[in-house]
Amino acid sequence: MVYSDNGFFDEFGGKYVAEVLRRPLDELETAFKEAMQDKVFLEELKTIQRDYIGRETPLLHAETASRILGGAQIYIKLEGLANTGAHKINNAIGQCLLAKRMGKKRIIAETGAGQHGVATAAACAKLGLDCTIYMGEVDVRRQQPNVSSMEMYGAKVKSVTSGSRTLKDAVNEAMRDWAANPDTTHYCLGSALGPAPFPDIVREFQSVIGREVKRQAEERNLDIVALIACCGGGSNSIGFFAPFIEEKTPRLIAVEAGGIGPGQGENASRMTGNASRNGILQGYKSRFLLDDDGQTLPTRSISAGLDYCGIGPQLAALGKKGRIEFTSALDKEVLDAIKFFAKNEGVLFAMESAHAGVEAIKLAPALPKDKAIIINMSGRGDKDIFITCPVFRPEEWKQFLLSELKRLEENKDIHNAESMK
Ligand SMILES: *Cc1c(COP(=O)(O)O)cnc(C)c1O
Repeated sequence: MVYSDNGFFDEFGGKYVAEVLRRPLDELETAFKEAMQDKVFLEELKTIQRDYIGRETPLLHAETASRILGGAQIYIKLEGLANTGAHKINNAIGQCLLAKRMGKKRIIAETGAGQHGVATAAACAKLGLDCTIYMGEVDVRRQQPNVSSMEMYGAKVKSVTSGSRTLKDAVNEAMRDWAANPDTTHYCLGSALGPAPFPDIVREFQSVIGREVKRQAEERNLDIVALIACCGGGSNSIGFFAPFIEEKTPRLIAVEAGGIGPGQGENASRMTGNASRNGILQGYKSRFLLDDDGQTLPTRSISAGLDYCGIGPQLAALGKKGRIEFTSALDKEVLDAIKFFAKNEGVLFAMESAHAGVEAIKLAPALPKDKAIIINMSGRGDKDIFITCPVFRPEEWKQFLLSELKRLEENKDIHNAESMK
């Protein structure tokens, strides 16, 4: 079960959308299937993956970490070295190239924490496409560095003021825009979820991660016991796992946000949590965190990228079947894993990716030294300094922010800010 069966992965998936969105989704599906058979398109994709994204990304042997843990050899797929700092660019570039092939001039996307917005804005800048990013007003306020990046790449960021003014409202607004402008516009959805054909499209563009890992592991004769990835919507994990799904081994382990604990509203564990239910939301059937009335529950995680109430339908199906094992990591374990890999390997994990690191630290010691486990480091941690620094160095960070504020207010050292606008 790699491709969906007419949009479904067992009972999950589908295309539960308003009538106006059926035609754009059907056209997208046809165009995607044609493109994936087109040698010229695939060649173009490969070239831009190499020259712009920086593929292939390395597979690093974490020798010191493995020695300290005393068991299996840990390898880290360094997706964080991709241009813009995470795996999201693989999907953004793929979809923007597909949109261009379809003759679309304009791209819209939703974003929560801003990572998908940044990747899409960058891809549009590279490919000469007009770009509008929908982002909840609350997120715009808390994610200013990403909003600045999107604007630097030339995107228009539209602040969404309806509903809870966060990710789910941004998705609704993007769907509305697409329904009104299907001929000129492509909706570049950011994870392996949403109505069909998005889960198939996003997995295919992300499966470059898994194909590279497979080749890199074979070249080194690795005996892989497990692949471990963090899981928000599921795009980095399903892309990493894709070439291995039909095989019996290795174990495929997806790590959800355990937040601060197992209580309602304390985590974003859609597969392992106790508020996990089947539901149909935003165009697809899957597992969601819902209350007894079927309303979405608040979620919580230290990492914005995993803080979402739904999960891709293929992951839900493979989880139910047992091919993908789900587990979760707590915020405090995540912070420890970030320190462990930074200090021992010189690799700074994004908070999302460090969820996979936590599981590797738990798993490795019990396994023989001649076995391998591979972590997908979906992104690098530079983006997280506003969360990690206040935890690791609270007083120094506070002093730094105060002095920055003072500098701004005194208008010192701001080089020609007016002329640069
Ligand atoms: C967005 C994000 C994730 C979570 O999204 P998936 O679709 O589950 O991959 C994970 N890691 C990083 C670095 C992200 O930016």
